[in-house]
Amino acid sequence: MMAKKRKSRGRAKGGKGRSDFIHCSNCGALVPRDKAKKITTRMSLVEPSLAKELRQQGAYIAAPTLVKYYCVSCAVHFGVVKVRAKEERKSF
Ligand SMILES: [Zn+2]
Repeated sequence: MMAKKRKSRGRAKGGKGRSDFIHCSNCGALVPRDKAKKITTRMSLVEPSLAKELRQQGAYIAAPTLVKYYCVSCAVHFGVVKVRAKEERKSF
């Protein structure tokens, strides 16, 4: 049997064959979508303290969702995922 570093081979693809490629939001690297780390953040257009006050007065404050994809290198750099010990990474 071939040595496996991770059970998933570092991807979330399973057995479904080839997947689309996307560009890393940070470095622009072309990576498979299922390998990239998808991060969604909500961008607040109003200062948090002000937003809280406005919400208390019943205002609806839109917070657009930002979707970012990071390659593994950038995900590690930004602390999205961490480097794990040999045994720990076997599980998934
Ligand atoms: Zn990157």
